Amino acid sequence: MTQTTTITRSDCEKLDQQDPLAALREEFDLPAGVIYLDGNSLGARPKAALQRAQDVITREWGTDLIKSWNTAGWFDMPSTLGNQLAPLIGAEVNEVVVTDTTSVNLFKAIAAALQIQATDSKRKTIITERSNFPTDIYMAEGITRWLDRGYQIQLIDSPDELPQVINDSTALVMLTHVNYRTGYLHDMAAVTALAHQHGALILWDLAHSAGAVPVYLNAANADFAVGCTYKYLNGGPGSPAFIWVPARHQEAFHHPLSGWWGHASPFAMNPGFTPTPGIRRALCGTQPITSLAMVACGLDTFGKTDMQAIRKKSLALTDMFIALVEARCASHPLELVTPRQHQQRGSQASFKHPHAYAVIQALIKRGVIGDYREPAIMRFGFTPLYTSFTDVWDAAEGLRDILDSKDYDANAERNAVT
Ligand SMILES: *Cc1c(COP(=O)(O)O)cnc(C)c1O
Repeated sequence: MTQTTTITRSDCEKLDQQDPLAALREEFDLPAGVIYLDGNSLGARPKAALQRAQDVITREWGTDLIKSWNTAGWFDMPSTLGNQLAPLIGAEVNEVVVTDTTSVNLFKAIAAALQIQATDSKRKTIITERSNFPTDIYMAEGITRWLDRGYQIQLIDSPDELPQVINDSTALVMLTHVNYRTGYLHDMAAVTALAHQHGALILWDLAHSAGAVPVYLNAANADFAVGCTYKYLNGGPGSPAFIWVPARHQEAFHHPLSGWWGHASPFAMNPGFTPTPGIRRALCGTQPITSLAMVACGLDTFGKTDMQAIRKKSLALTDMFIALVEARCASHPLELVTPRQHQQRGSQASFKHPHAYAVIQALIKRGVIGDYREPAIMRFGFTPLYTSFTDVWDAAEGLRDILDSKDYDANAERNAVT
């Protein structure tokens, strides 16, 4: 891609014509005139979701009422969806459930991991990154404070510190596979092996990986994973998250949210809790079925391609955006914070700029939707299922024009959601 800087819009049109994923854009309902570079935060709506929502609400709920727990597969839906998602993250059948939120699933996985490690009383630290998504750190804080057993959270400032900090007192290494802000991608297999060398367990957060980059949880021999379905998996706003527990850990997996959906026989209505064998012990209570049902629509679109094809296009899109922005906005104080090396990059490109918030707001006004993250970072997510090469060209051109003409309000008030 050394010629990228001289690339024209018509070159992008040609790339779109040759793009094997181009037709998948038709699976999504995107408003005309919008270039959507925020699929890393809230994925676009699959067209099929409208019909599915109508069917869940009118027929399954409206007509069939409570029978639908059995006849419409409502009760099994967390596992059915988990099995549909499994191949995208390198998991096996009956190792994933779609349920609850990422924060809640983090709670379950951290609690279960600490309990497994409790046989070794000197393992008292949870290692994570200061730059991790805050809820991940907050959940670890909440558990350790509540347990009050001397657990410490150790925050590192760079992945390079991992070999020095992981040792015999590490209980759990908890990392987000792709950093939400910079797009940095960890080497899952290498870091997992490092944790295991010291007897530590590892929990991967796949919020920005599932549907964005190929993930091989079992091949990496990872211990636990959680992630979102409303980002790259296009499950809809607040759609339930997922949790992965590999077969080898399922029997030892005990978490304190021991609700009836995780019981061995929920409808026996026994007063004592016996966890069900297998992954469904990770469930807690009744699931938001109307929201859960939408997740299938997002996952169905992945059945029409594979993660290798998605990865190839994702890297081509981010390479092109980085090259175009750096060439065309060279006179402006932009700093790329996303790694240039492919093996360290997720499916986004983030740039620092002193007026990042204002510039993003100006872009959104022009129909180019990215987002802002502290500190001073403009974040652009690239979803190969529905983003074209001409979108990339137009977004970079919009950014150039806004910066050149200073067409932004440097004093723009912050919205509640940035
Ligand atoms: C988006 C995201 C979350 C969100 O958690 P919720 O419980 O769904 O609000 C958590 N962790 C990471 C790393 C994320 O990127």
